[in-house]
Amino acid sequence: MRRKLVVGNWKMNGGLSQNQLLLNSLTQQLKGLQGVDIAVCVPYPYLHQAKMLLAGSNIQWGAQNISRFSEGAYTASISAEMVADFGCTYALIGHSERRAASQESNHSAAQRFSQALHGGITPIFCVGETLTERQLGLAQSVVKNQVLAILNGLDSATFELGKYHHAVIAYEPVWAIGAKQTAQPSEAQEMHHFIRTLVSTYDADYAAALRLIYGGSVTPENASSLFSMPDIDGGLIGRASLDALKFRRICEAASPVTVVK
Ligand code: PEP
Repeated sequence: MRRKLVVGNWKMNGGLSQNQLLLNSLTQQLKGLQGVDIAVCVPYPYLHQAKMLLAGSNIQWGAQNISRFSEGAYTASISAEMVADFGCTYALIGHSERRAASQESNHSAAQRFSQALHGGITPIFCVGETLTERQLGLAQSVVKNQVLAILNGLDSATFELGKYHHAVIAYEPVWAIGAKQTAQPSEAQEMHHFIRTLVSTYDADYAAALRLIYGGSVTPENASSLFSMPDIDGGLIGRASLDALKFRRICEAASPVTVVK
């Protein structure tokens, strides 16, 4: 049984005082919720604040990207070791907004994925097709190329020792991100099943344990039906993660323990 994971992606939102309110509210709202792993990925400047306010709670924290290099003359880049210094558990890798805005390729996403593993960070690797790609019937081949880029990019020691087995994959259809509508649970399930089957041809143990989370307009209203699908192991949550009550309801939907109200 895979333990579900719910991760908030704050994107470029927040500020010191606003974050303080949100982080304190999240720790209060989520206190005692069992059976689910919870994290928030905050903008880099607020990693220290997240560490200070979340340490000792049941909420972990992470970054929204990391460099594909480990150190050196890469102005404005942030390495995996640097975010690890701030106690991060996770880093998002290959989010579609990064792929679109900064032309991050499958190759560079694979490099970032490896850097995260070497830096002791659990990568949450984002994959997903655009609306045009889906309409052209290319959704599975696009996602396949994205997934194979990271698996084929692993060095032999990492592969042989299974050092990537904690890595998470997030299926985020680009057309459902920041949109009015989410993917139907059956549509999302179909792609999650496709990804798990693909990964199993590469490493069956990893495929069985792999946490495959769904992202794209998850709300308190649709979370339960998405999370009840057999291959959906939680969610990556954008807008709704900025509202502590909504985020709590989504985390509750991922918890196997019934919450008494
Ligand atoms: C995201 O950008 O990762 C995301 C899932 O956003 P939203 O929930 O707002 O669609």
